[in-house]
Order: sequence, then structure tokens, then C-alpha cells
Amino acid sequence: MKAAFLYGAGDVRVEDVPDPVIKQPTDAIVRTVRACVCGSDLHGYHSAEAGGAGRPMGHELIGVVEETGREVTNVKRGDFVIAPFAYQDNTCVFCREGVQTSCIHGGFYGTPETGGLQADLARIPQANGSLVKVPGVDPDKADGTLLASLLTLSDVYLTGYHAAHMGQVTPGQTVTVIGDGAVGLSAVLASRQLGAERIILMGRHHSRTDLGVEWGATDVVPERGDEGIAMVMDLTGGEGSHVVLEAVGHMPAYEQAYGVVRPGGIISRVGVPQYEEAPIGFGSLFGKNARLAGGPAPVRAYMEPAIEQVLDGQIDPGRVFDRTVSLDKTADGYRAMDAREALKVMLAP
Ligand SMILES: [Zn+2]
Repeated sequence: MKAAFLYGAGDVRVEDVPDPVIKQPTDAIVRTVRACVCGSDLHGYHSAEAGGAGRPMGHELIGVVEETGREVTNVKRGDFVIAPFAYQDNTCVFCREGVQTSCIHGGFYGTPETGGLQADLARIPQANGSLVKVPGVDPDKADGTLLASLLTLSDVYLTGYHAAHMGQVTPGQTVTVIGDGAVGLSAVLASRQLGAERIILMGRHHSRTDLGVEWGATDVVPERGDEGIAMVMDLTGGEGSHVVLEAVGHMPAYEQAYGVVRPGGIISRVGVPQYEEAPIGFGSLFGKNARLAGGPAPVRAYMEPAIEQVLDGQIDPGRVFDRTVSLDKTADGYRAMDAREALKVMLAP
């Protein structure tokens, strides 16, 4: 089969490798229908050191079950499924508490042991908890927009949803979303679903913020830094935002977040932090009684209602995909996203 590997900064290669096989009785093998490139894949794409073995890439997938280990009972050969970006048993204490990304038997794709999901086939560990069947959809007959929306439930839309959930967005609130990437736009859509009254989107790429406005952003602030903070404070009558959803992961975005959060408000971060330390003192969080939340999204926790919303046509999160390339051309997909020519790139086998 073909699979994508990262060999160093800017160096993604698609290679022929042996097909994955069942290693544990809890595994399943899934044939990819669609995969995609994540904004978080670009962090490695920027910083990976050259030399050594390629790192298998990709963690978002919809596909069809090919084979199951003997302990897999929740899905069977031929089922059309979504794979959340982390694997989990969905039964342990942390899974039951809704933090499936901390599953005792769980983990992440993209390691030599587990492999990546930017591939023709994938070995899915803990398949009972890690694959969710999409009822009543034949992927060969489904239209591309439906497949795109289902694919976003693997990560991007439900990561945006997690940001809003952890920010405890409630009807009537003002929410500021920092970042106009695919996760930030998803956070706008999710905030609207949760009833936010005012949604301020901080982003400067018109083609992206336009989609944010369609999805419910009431204001767009292209300014950054102190200027951006001043704009948001101005828009909120000097009060600030009840909830701030930070979907970037760099320090300036965090600084904007504590700059615009309202006293007593919540900052929820889902951009993977590219920093180890950040201000939490009087001038940032403490003085405002602000709370900090967020982390890797346990998308498994939100999957079933989100599948229903997509199938009912209530949400169309697949619109974050603005380019599709064949799996052979995965490197072009990374390049296009890195150059901001594409918001999010879908991969088709
Ligand atoms: Zn678990």
C-alpha cells in the first residue's frame, strides 16, 4: 500500500510499504475512503530534523472495515466508519469521564508502532472504541460534500467543538475565536450550535473569515497583538469576551486570549501549544479570575450526535476542505497548506 512519511522539514514522501496486519485481537484493518492533512501536521513539517527513518503521518480517516481481530464486536467487515484522531477503548475510567484522549489503553497515530492514517490502509488499535459506524451511508454512492463533513468528525470540527465545550459556551454569551484556520472556523460553527450570541473571529484571511461569517461570526477582527485586543475590547464595550477559543497554539495567540477575556471568563485552548511556559500571573489570568481550559479533543465523546447533525444537514463542517489531492500527491497537499494556498486538504486514495 501507499503511505505518507515525513523525512525532515518540508520533506513528505509517499512510499510503498507492506499492508498493515492485525497484531492484537482488538485491532481492525480499515481501507481509506478519505484522509486529510491537519494543521498540527504542519508543526512537524516545519521543524522535523532530516535523517533517519520517516515518520508515518496522518491521524484523520474515514474508511471501510476490511478485517477485524477476534475481540472486535462493535464493527464488522464492510462497515463505513470514522476513526477519531486518537485511539481508545472507550470503556476505561477516563473514557467514561469523557476524556478519551487520556484513555489508559489509548494512544496516538503517527508512531512507528501504530502507523499513520495518510495511507491506503490503516491498523486501528482498540477498534471497539476507536471506530464509529456511520449508519445508512454507502461511501461509494455518497456525495463528496457528505464525505467531507463526516471526515471533519475525525478531528477538525470536533476539535473546534471541544474548544467551545471546554469554554462552557452558553446561549447569549460573547465568544472570541482566535485563528481563522480550519479549527478556528469549526469553533465558530460549534459556538453558534451552542447558542453564542456574539462571535468575534480574529483572523485576516478573507476567504477564510468569509466562511466564518457564514457559520455565525458576527464580527471579524483582522488586527493582531495589542491592536487586536483593543479592537475586541472596543467591540465589547470594554468588557471583554465571556469565552475565548484559542485555535492557533503560538504565544501571541495566548497573549491575545488573556488580553480579551472578560473578568470571570474562560480561555479554552485547542491549538497545540508550541510553547512550554506561559503567563498565568496577576496581569494575565489571576487578576481577572479567568480560567484556562482545553487540550487534545476527546472527539469520540462527541461523535454520535455530530454524525446525526451531519446526516440531518444541520451542520456542514466539510466546507473547511478547499482542495482534494490523490494520496500520491500528499506532499503537494502539505505544500499548499503550508503556503496558505489551501485551508485544508483532503486526500483520496
Ligand atoms: Zn479508555
